[in-house]
Amino acid sequence: MILPHATFQESTVHSSTSISLLGGTLYDPANGKNGVVCDIHIRDGRIVDALHETPSRTLDLSGLIVMPGGVDIHSHVAGPKVCSGRRIAPDLANNRPAAVPTAKATGSLYAALGYTTVFDAAVSPSAAHLVHMELADLPILDKGIYLLVADEQRVIDSLERRNRRETMAAISQSLAACRGWAVKVANPGGCVFWKRGLRGDHHDLDSTLPGYSISPRDILRQLAEAIVELGLPHPLHVHTANLGLPGNWRTTMETLRTFDGLRAHLAHVQFHSYTGGDCDSDTFGSGVEPLAHWFNEHSELTLDVGQILFGRTVAMTGDSSAAEHLAHTTGVPWRSHDEYLEGGCGILPIEYREKNLIHSWQWAIGLEWFLSVSDPWRIALTTDHPNGAHFTAYPHLMRLLGDAAFRRAAVERIHPLVRSRSPLGSLSREYSLSELCIITRAAPARIAGLKTKGHLGPGADADVTVYRHDADLERMFSLPAFVLKAGTLVVEDGHVRSYPVGQTFACLPECS
Ligand SMILES: [Zn+2]
Repeated sequence: MILPHATFQESTVHSSTSISLLGGTLYDPANGKNGVVCDIHIRDGRIVDALHETPSRTLDLSGLIVMPGGVDIHSHVAGPKVCSGRRIAPDLANNRPAAVPTAKATGSLYAALGYTTVFDAAVSPSAAHLVHMELADLPILDKGIYLLVADEQRVIDSLERRNRRETMAAISQSLAACRGWAVKVANPGGCVFWKRGLRGDHHDLDSTLPGYSISPRDILRQLAEAIVELGLPHPLHVHTANLGLPGNWRTTMETLRTFDGLRAHLAHVQFHSYTGGDCDSDTFGSGVEPLAHWFNEHSELTLDVGQILFGRTVAMTGDSSAAEHLAHTTGVPWRSHDEYLEGGCGILPIEYREKNLIHSWQWAIGLEWFLSVSDPWRIALTTDHPNGAHFTAYPHLMRLLGDAAFRRAAVERIHPLVRSRSPLGSLSREYSLSELCIITRAAPARIAGLKTKGHLGPGADADVTVYRHDADLERMFSLPAFVLKAGTLVVEDGHVRSYPVGQTFACLPECS
């Protein structure tokens, strides 16, 4: 392969930190630029309209593709559950990254893929200080955490009293004290059931919490309203009830109805879109069609998919009952973590197999979601790392979405029953480069409420990823030619060149 010419040129002027990126083909959908050749100028880590001085560096990007740095809005990269996951599965396969990498490896691997921002999506407030200590060792990327405040006693008590001001005050104080960016709810009210020995499949959205008068539906609605009123940048981040259970698409539909008219973000929706009944693998299948229809009609909702990809990984969830159910069905030993703190957590190794009926359905259901959502600005590419797959598999997923022939060949290898019953084989949609750029950068940045991420207009952080055009999208997205983070060259041809320290996002809402 002949690589287009691309070199960094150092001038003798080192006092300035201005850089010009010249002649690249720009994909910046947030600013209406999709495949246009233009220059980008950087001063002090930010994109600027133009430079009035001679830049200290220029980079000739002729023939190369330029995108904003990737933004992962739902991953699990630090904290007690991640440490526990490392102990369970230090290294699942030769010649591959550890299933749960160290903080330093996580930063390096994300950066090598062209990602520059990551959020850990489930942090108990009482563990936040440990998570921040670990994130301080995660280099290069900017990062943030979503707090599981709905498991805090004072929040549950305020919801029980239906006291909006009290709920808003509790959320504000937790975000400030724990330096959180957003609020996550994992299996609403689930910890109250779990800590009384009641399993996840023994309650639905309208079951009253033991000892309370409120239901999971009340929790979802009240929290979403409080967050909208607080004006948080990211809406309520929802892992709804009955994760991973057959027939859970009905719970998910009820969850969507609960938010009718309210902003909310549905996390790893693939794990919440199953038909079927108890232990009946013949009726297990996809509930995506009615869910996607509702989602497409409601522009206040956003989602990330939590795609599974075949191979070995580690499941870790703030939903203890879901982990217990998975351990029970797979026969694999599991760990329950944080059970004496305000939340819950379960961790266990898992292998997704191509010929396994349920795993084939999960794979097909995730892809069906991607291909059924009409507005790419409301969907984020995730694997719920490491739950569905390692984040280093993102380029493979991007090829499945952008290359219909590649996807059809993959469909031929899955379980024959899924092949014949799933609508996936009849979906011919291909994501364009611009749409892949949207679901990996522009949309997740917008969904997370990050004004300086996901685009390359003036004022944006100079997080820039440069790719070589390649018909093989997996190869193209696996090995960026260059990655800049806040204007600093951090990766060149897969090699990490520097380890700058990223910022941590914190939201400090005012609430009297
Ligand atoms: Zn998750």
